[in-house]
Amino acid sequence: MNLADDVRSYDLDALRERVLPETSGSVTESIPQLAEADPDLCGIALVALDGEVRTSRQGEAAFSIQSAVKPFVFALALQDTGRAALERVGIEPTGEAFDAVKLESGTGRPPNPMVNAGALLTSSIVDGRDAGARSERIAAGLSAFAGRPLQVDEEVAAAEQRLGDRNLALAHLMRSEGTLRVEAEDAIGVYGRACATLVDASALAVMGATLASGGVNPCTGERVVSPEVARDVISVMATCGVYDGSGRWMREVGVPAKSSVSGAIVLASPGFLGAAIFSPPLDDQGTSVRGHRASALLSADLGLHAFRVP
Ligand code: GLU
Repeated sequence: MNLADDVRSYDLDALRERVLPETSGSVTESIPQLAEADPDLCGIALVALDGEVRTSRQGEAAFSIQSAVKPFVFALALQDTGRAALERVGIEPTGEAFDAVKLESGTGRPPNPMVNAGALLTSSIVDGRDAGARSERIAAGLSAFAGRPLQVDEEVAAAEQRLGDRNLALAHLMRSEGTLRVEAEDAIGVYGRACATLVDASALAVMGATLASGGVNPCTGERVVSPEVARDVISVMATCGVYDGSGRWMREVGVPAKSSVSGAIVLASPGFLGAAIFSPPLDDQGTSVRGHRASALLSADLGLHAFRVP
């Protein structure tokens, strides 16, 4: 049996049952809409690179993508700038929290595109002459990654802007360094709308699969980004995608991924598959507890660890 057959026959409901008894972690209180999430929710989706989409029970539950958007905004920034975005944002892990108010020493750039400072920067350099146009570019790009039109949750977007003081501080800090070149309010508005994009596990898994396939959406056949961009993004997911938990993640799961405060995780296993898990309770690094556990089991079951040895 090859991996595509393994993916086709993999029992996602059984995987879900294995992680459901895990009840540690807590739901974020960062904005009211996320604080109301049901801690018992758990949905999983897998997308093979032949376009086969598989979902578990609750795989259709909608959630705001939050920081799982960051790899895709980075991809669009790389695509739109001919990869010159690599000069505007670093690619080194920080070992610090997602919203640390700290820039790369010497350059004043954000340390990497997977933390808030980096995503504020990358969302400011996608195509579009003003904030509205950049938000439209991001919405269209994310929809191409997902293979269906994605909507923004306007209440979440408004809350992100209203309660985004720390992000505003980061934007002002980058402006003072000359590295962010749009208005700070515009930067948090565009980034906040991107975080407020509504997905479900299957849409997010298709997005991961589009990166894993080298930039072509395996369900629609559309090329969304170049193979070089997909490789750049997956590399940075591997080193920085789980914030200050990235080292532990790489050892235990071994699949490039991005976590988010809503409890979503997107995985991109290059050449193999995309996957997503949504379960709101988070550990101390802001990673879904059940999502981490399910990812480790999935990786072990399907032999996905990047550094597996004979
Ligand atoms: N919108 C959240 C913020 O900017 C995203 C954080 C996350 O998902 O880790 O604080």
